[in-house]
Amino acid sequence: MGVIRVLAADIVNKIAAGEVIERPASVVKELVENALDAGARKLVVEIEEGGRKLVRITDDGCGMAPEDLPLAFAPHATSKLASVDDLFKVGTFGFRGEALASIGSVARVRIASRPKGATDGAEITMDAGMLAALKPAGGPEGTAVEVRDLFHAVPARRKFLRSIDVELEHVDEAVTRAAIAHPGVRFELVVDGDRRRILAPAKEPRERIAAFFGQEIADSLVDVRAETPSASFEALVAPPKYARLSLKWQFVYLNGRFIRDRVLTRAINEAYHETLPHGRYPIVFLFLRVPAGEVDVNVHPTKIEVRFRQVWRVHDLLLGALRQRLLGSELAPRLDPGSLAERPFVPMRPSHQEIVEFFTGNQAEALVQAPALLTTGQRVFQLHDRYLVEEVEEGIRIIDQHALHERVMLESLRKQYATSDMPKQRLLLPASVEVDPREKAVLDEHRTVLESMGFLIEDFGPSSVAVRAVPALLSASDPGRLVRDFLEVAKEHAQTEKKHGHAVPLLDRALEFLACRAAVKFGERLAPEEIERLLKDAGELDFSSTCAHGRPTAIRLTLDDLERFFKRRR
Ligand code: ADP
Ligand code: MG
Repeated sequence: MGVIRVLAADIVNKIAAGEVIERPASVVKELVENALDAGARKLVVEIEEGGRKLVRITDDGCGMAPEDLPLAFAPHATSKLASVDDLFKVGTFGFRGEALASIGSVARVRIASRPKGATDGAEITMDAGMLAALKPAGGPEGTAVEVRDLFHAVPARRKFLRSIDVELEHVDEAVTRAAIAHPGVRFELVVDGDRRRILAPAKEPRERIAAFFGQEIADSLVDVRAETPSASFEALVAPPKYARLSLKWQFVYLNGRFIRDRVLTRAINEAYHETLPHGRYPIVFLFLRVPAGEVDVNVHPTKIEVRFRQVWRVHDLLLGALRQRLLGSELAPRLDPGSLAERPFVPMRPSHQEIVEFFTGNQAEALVQAPALLTTGQRVFQLHDRYLVEEVEEGIRIIDQHALHERVMLESLRKQYATSDMPKQRLLLPASVEVDPREKAVLDEHRTVLESMGFLIEDFGPSSVAVRAVPALLSASDPGRLVRDFLEVAKEHAQTEKKHGHAVPLLDRALEFLACRAAVKFGERLAPEEIERLLKDAGELDFSSTCAHGRPTAIRLTLDDLERFFKRRR
């Protein structure tokens, strides 16, 4: 006897609910999206007990005609799609007609609605999939959807809900995501009778960001835009110093819809790569627009993942524009004079005295050991063979010479690499390097990268290779050491890839390593001409405020800071 049965509609809906509705926050997300689709300008989200007991969303949108109310609960019933064609150009959040059917199958739901301009409204309830009769109802224009006792019909799922606080946090996150992308809509969040958030209509996302994350972060955001025929975006990005330990602070919207996309996330983090230590992620709000047909939003039940036709194009557009902006020196970290006062970082030893006097102009000439007079006429000197102290218009800059040089080298290597292969230096005597079979395989695998960087490496017996040329920039280094270092970089790279699945291209890492190798050392005495050259190159290169490893390259103290520090001014 056959054992295959077609599942009853009720079970089908409960299964679908499992995909779409995971927790109260999912209910909030779906209902908020419905309200926004209905053109709401004002939206009140009320929850009790983290949304487990009640989620109620009231909107002033277009409302539903009484005869539509039973249909709203029917699976695959939607007013937002008419044909298959529409599926590829949806402009609404919803289109699958699944949310209300799903929620209705696992909770007690009441919808009350009055269409705009109509004199009467109606209400209908569904409890665990059972639809009750339609009743007339008063109430304002718009719609109120009330969801009580989520998952009471599926105790197994109810057990998976977390504490009230955790669920509340998720609800708040869902409201945050929607409110940032729709600054013109008024949002209220009422938690157990308490008006937790009141967001008046705003002109732009930045105002909403201030409401959620504070004025300081909102004010620090830099605006980056780019446009091509297949995609355009506006991004609000925070300086590296605000970076967080999690990706939660990255908001990516596609045509107003909050999404998660690994490739785009990667572009964002890659743009900040040099400015941040490992494991820190920048705060970014990205509003991406792509024309219909360039993206398929129907690949995930909650549509949080989408499929782009040309995601790498979008990646490149994003990375290019962000990187260009971030490399601007406007984001250079500034020392907080307050922190200096608490922890005087330089005890009053003669060297400090010297700096102070140098900048107060008293004995400048006598103290500067190697004054290099720059074209700008500003003064600079090297401190302990490690730092450059530079007089700049608004105060002083203390530069980590290695970090800055490394940064300069990296930028020029990137440029060189982008335009042509990098100059190589042939060795008079090839250097032989011992490698084991695994390492040899790694060198083979990355031959193209190596060659375009200027290495020429040939097989030389079963367990060694011969280095015939090295990048011209590194001609002074030990060739064997360079190859070993490259193997090290490649190994580390492979491990990151394995662990996180999204390592930056090996080439980028390799260029960083070249830059680090080629840069002047910390502790290396520089001639005045070298100092001048370094500062000039850095000035021309739009250099970033941090080195390739994410450490700062310079700190800046303004005269203002100094005056505050010395209590000349409050
Ligand atoms: P979808 O949003 O995918 O169409 P839903 O199950 O979320 O599916 O909603 C079904 C239908 O109910 C919608 O297409 C819409 O016509 C109607 N609807 C739901 N919520 C509202 C609302 N707040 N205001 C007006 N109409 C609504
Ligand atoms: Mg919907």
